[in-house]
This record gives sequence, C-alpha cells and structure tokens, in this order.
Amino acid sequence: MKKKRLKLKKQVWFVIVLIIFGTIGIIAFNKIHAKYELENTTEYKLKEIGYTEEEITTLKKYYDEDNLKKFISQKKDETLLEFMNSEHYIHDNYERYITFMEENRTDIKTAIEYVNLNLDYDYYEAPVEVDYDLKNEILVNKYYLLDSSFVPEDLIDVTNKKYFYGDGFQVKKEVWDNYLNMWNDADAMGFYLIVNFAYYPYSEHESAYNKAKDNNGTVYADNNVYRPGSNEHTTGLALDIFAKGALTTATFPESEAYKWLHENAHKYGFIERYQKDKEYITGQSAEQWHYRYVGVSTATFIYEHNLTLEEYLTYYK
Ligand SMILES: [Zn+2]
Repeated sequence: MKKKRLKLKKQVWFVIVLIIFGTIGIIAFNKIHAKYELENTTEYKLKEIGYTEEEITTLKKYYDEDNLKKFISQKKDETLLEFMNSEHYIHDNYERYITFMEENRTDIKTAIEYVNLNLDYDYYEAPVEVDYDLKNEILVNKYYLLDSSFVPEDLIDVTNKKYFYGDGFQVKKEVWDNYLNMWNDADAMGFYLIVNFAYYPYSEHESAYNKAKDNNGTVYADNNVYRPGSNEHTTGLALDIFAKGALTTATFPESEAYKWLHENAHKYGFIERYQKDKEYITGQSAEQWHYRYVGVSTATFIYEHNLTLEEYLTYYK
C-alpha cells in the first residue's frame, strides 16, 4: 500500500510539471508568433523604412492593403507624401503631376494647379465633354467642348436696335433680363452699352471652322477659328459688350464704360471671362468686352476672389 501511494504521488508531480512547462511553452510560442506576425505586417515594415504613423494613415487614404505593400520594397517616397498633404491634391492626377513637374521644373503647388486645370495637355489634345449639370456655371474652353447637338434652352430673339449694332441676335432669356438691368444702371451712369455678339450656333461655328481648315489647314483653323464646341458663345450665356464712343476692341478697354463694367458686372451675374494675366488658364487672350453670365452669387464670388471660371470650378466647387 505504501509503495502504491508513493507511485501515485510521482505521477501527480509529473502531471503538474508537464502542465507548468506546457503553459510556459504555449505562452512563449504565442509571444514569438505574435512578434513574427507583427513584423510581417505592412505597417511594421513601412515604419522600418521610416514612415511615421501619421504618414501611413495618409497613404491608407489612397491605397488599400494590397497596394500599400508596394511601398515596402521602395525607399520612403517623400515627394508622394508632400503631394498628398498639399491642397487640392487629386490622386488620379498623380502621374501627371510628376510628369508636369519634371518637364517644367516647377514646384508641387504649381504642378497641382496646372494639371487640375488640364493645362498639361495641349489644346484639344484630350477633349472632355462639357458638364451640362453646371447649368449657368457651365465651363467651355479648349479642353471642355460642347457636343455638336447642343442647343441652349430658352433662347430669345433680341431685335430692338437700341441694344446692338450689326444684326439682331439670340441669347438666353435669363441672361438678357439681367443684362437689361445692367444696361439701365449703366445708362443712368452715362454709359451707353452696345452688344455686338451673343449666341453662336454650333453649326455656324463648325462651318466657319471647316472653311478655314479647307483654305488654310488645321493649325490655322485651330488657332484662329478654334474648334467647334469650344466657343463660349455657343452656350447662349456670353455677350460681347461695347459702348457708344468705344465700339472697337482697341478703344473699349481704354474707356470709362469698360471701367464701370469691370467693377459692376458681377452685381448682375456677369464675369469678365478672359482677363489679362490669366491667359495661361483660360487659353484665351484678354477680351475686356466678353462677358459671361454665371448668376449673381457666383459672379460676385469670382469677382471678389479675382478668379477665372476655371479656377472657381476647380478649387471651390
Ligand atoms: Zn465673346
């Protein structure tokens, strides 16, 4: 009996020791395993390359787990981070930013500004169809072209010779209503405003372009007539405005009437669309007589911030 009890005791001890070592073993294994797991995460590896927690969060905004992995095998990308932390950064444009920056030796801010406005493309190189949902704020230029079937709604005929020289024209009703308010106020100030160009149908522009192309080639036609669909007058929202005593493109910019228009047109919903010093954005040399209706609040914002329509839509919409 005595012997048996002793034997049993030995077995108990054996089990206890087994449990203790087993537990220690499992804990150690788990710890090693956890460490192995952690060191294998993308985040850990990125930190090893030098990315901070904050920078990893920034990367995660634009890359999912799978795409994040590609950064592990590279040097820390400081340029990319700087881009991502810049105002108005658009991730889809990243390759274009880099190309533009290299080709033009500019800084990040300029690259973002230019590329966001499509200025890294040549005129008509990558035409995008106009966003018609913008309504009165619709953008038409050498990058955003109207479809050949486009005809503005609510066009009215202006036939009262008091308001124009040359032939009568068509324009959108809302534009004309606001113009008449402006006309009256200008008149009260002693300025007699005169319109000489308004709605320009797509088909007419197309004929003019084709004629120029047939006679003088595409380059000439592109530079002088512009491609059909790229003319803002086709929207029915633009007016070329002059004044009595200043009826030419040479005299009008020097006139008092222009000064008044420049400072007051926004109150009636119009912007001076092609400003001096903004040619690189609009793709159009300065035209102090070309006014574009966008609505009062937008026009006022654009005027007060000294913007082009392109900049307004890119940065504030
Ligand atoms: Zn014009």
